[in-house]
Amino acid sequence: MDRLIDHGYEAYVVGGAVRDFLLGRPVHDIDIATAAHPGRVISLFRRTIPTGVKHGTVTVIAHGQTYEVTTFRSESGYSDFRHPNHVRFESSLDKDLMRRDFTINALAMDRSGAIIDLFGGRKDMAERRIRMVGAPEERIHEDPLRIMRGIRFVSELEFTLGDREFAAFQAQAGLLKKISVERLDQEMTRLLAGPAANRAIGLLFATGCFRALPLLKEADLPDPPVALPLLEDDAERWAAFLDGTGVGDVAAFARAWKWSGKLKKRVTAILAFGKIRRAGSWSRMSVYQAGPQCAASVERFLTAGGTFRRDTLENRLKAAGSLWAGLPIHSRSDLAVTGRDLIRWSGRKPGPWLAEVIRTLEKSVVEGAVRNRTEVIKTWFMEQPAAREQKY
Ligand code: ATP
Ligand code: MG
Repeated sequence: MDRLIDHGYEAYVVGGAVRDFLLGRPVHDIDIATAAHPGRVISLFRRTIPTGVKHGTVTVIAHGQTYEVTTFRSESGYSDFRHPNHVRFESSLDKDLMRRDFTINALAMDRSGAIIDLFGGRKDMAERRIRMVGAPEERIHEDPLRIMRGIRFVSELEFTLGDREFAAFQAQAGLLKKISVERLDQEMTRLLAGPAANRAIGLLFATGCFRALPLLKEADLPDPPVALPLLEDDAERWAAFLDGTGVGDVAAFARAWKWSGKLKKRVTAILAFGKIRRAGSWSRMSVYQAGPQCAASVERFLTAGGTFRRDTLENRLKAAGSLWAGLPIHSRSDLAVTGRDLIRWSGRKPGPWLAEVIRTLEKSVVEGAVRNRTEVIKTWFMEQPAAREQKY
């Protein structure tokens, strides 16, 4: 900011950094708005990245961190509900602040630390309220993602939604269908992780947004609410959300929301082992198959959903952890023999029988019926019908 200002260009910290600073929350990225055009910004700093020069954004690297420096700009014409048709560079901060979504995101801070607050952002902050800059209906029509952002901020900041905003979200919920699923997923994921996630889910339901989101058309409001803040990662939270809202087909949901294979796998496992665990304690085999991470996730998931009591969670986590730790093997590769040994001992050709025997062996070892020693397993194996089957 010193550099820009010393060269005659106004510069301010804007957006989330000012908001989070004033709220006493950790500040992740620092956005700077300036009158300088991108070319000028590039020439003024030694290390820059032309992140989005057409839209006015240059990343400046200094002090071992990055700053997004964006030329004052206004936006107009959002015919695709996403990208403004025109981005105009402006010479004053006012226009730049006007394009921002919520009053708490439209604060600026000058070099001396003074706050510029054109839309009552500080009052809304004090009253813990999410209010839009300008007329909500219009601002949502420009970019319907703002609905999701607004509700996500309710969750993250534990704020309430303004009445006019609520009415506008409700009236225009259908516009969410225009938004790419990647961006919806990003907002939903953050929304589920906020301390007021349940209030936010209530809002998604009350405003009718659920009905506009992929595969949530028929979803129910979780009742009683799921204790989401108890959960530790996105997979646990999504599993609890799907379970609570009664979405049964995880595979279809994962496809519709373009989840990564890893997320899909984890959510599916939590839900599947959740069912098993709901029916009874962990067995050696079920905890072996789930693995310690998934087993812990399942315990938290079932606690959040109200199946088990919170005050028993610590003990249940410990019990599942020690049951797993005490298993004779933790994966198939821990077996003292390989498929090759079984082929040699039986003299049989490899075939489907082999996988079958290994599965049985694995289970027997996990359950403690067969010791994981080569000789013990050999004796066991030679008594199996598979070992004596006709040789080819
Ligand atoms: P966080 O970084 O915690 O997600 P943020 O408010 O910094 O919160 P960014 O996406 O980093 O969110 O955006 C930076 C700023 O850009 C916002 O504070 C807001 O002023 C503006 N902004 C971001 N997205 C929009 C949008 N969809 N419509 C209007 N203004 C937006
Ligand atoms: Mg930000």
